[in-house]
Amino acid sequence: MTNAEAIGPLSTDVLVIGGGPAGTWAAIKAAQAGVDVVLADKGYTGASGATASVGTGIWYVDDVPEQREAAMASREALGGHLAEREWMARVLDETHARMHELGEVQRYPFPVDVNGQPIRNDLQGPEYMRRQRTRVQRLGVRILDPTPTPLRRRRGGPMPGCGRAMHALSITFVRALGLRSPVVTA
Ligand SMILES: Cc1cc2nc3c(=O)[nH]c(=O)nc-3n(C[C@H](O)[C@H](O)[C@H](O)COP(=O)(O)OP(=O)(O)OC[C@H]3O[C@@H](n4cnc5c(N)ncnc54)[C@H](O)[C@@H]3O)c2cc1C
Repeated sequence: MTNAEAIGPLSTDVLVIGGGPAGTWAAIKAAQAGVDVVLADKGYTGASGATASVGTGIWYVDDVPEQREAAMASREALGGHLAEREWMARVLDETHARMHELGEVQRYPFPVDVNGQPIRNDLQGPEYMRRQRTRVQRLGVRILDPTPTPLRRRRGGPMPGCGRAMHALSITFVRALGLRSPVVTA
């Protein structure tokens, strides 16, 4: 029996499906916006998904125009010049903001370089996701796990629940929606 079956019917303003980086950040931002949030994961939020068990490289670039320009130019070349600059800039903005938030609010212990500056382009998944779960809970989000959610593909639409997008990109998407969608698939 899953958590949801044990609890019975629920109502909420926002249902986030998937408790990886994308889902936990979406739940945090929705809860901060003042709405009621339920987060459902088929496994255990904080331990499920690819990030929770590995070291994760993060596309973090300091907020210095020349460094951002160089980073985007490098990725453009790697992607055969198919990438859109606007999206790359949004990913860089979101990643920059979320990594600072992770250090300041979730108190993630970033290692420091020889100058004492935090190194934010790499995360230890278990530590990261454990802190994400704690933050989500502190914001009053109701976590349901284990709760596998049946997902259907809409005609012509993206496959929900794939859970492989960069989490910063997903947060950007949630923001672009203005949290009008009641369901967020992470
Ligand atoms: C080996 C490997 C190495 C990687 N290295 C990097 C890296 O260095 N840097 C990087 O940016 N990315 C890396 N990735 C990609 C990585 O998966 C994503 O960046 C990140 O985990 C995506 O976060 P997510 O929240 O979208 O998905 P996930 O972390 O996969 O989380 C999805 C969550 O949704 C839950 N879920 C899925 N379906 C359902 C359902 N139907 N109902 C309820 N819950 C559901 C899962 O249990 C899981 O907790 C790597 C992936 C792999 C496999």
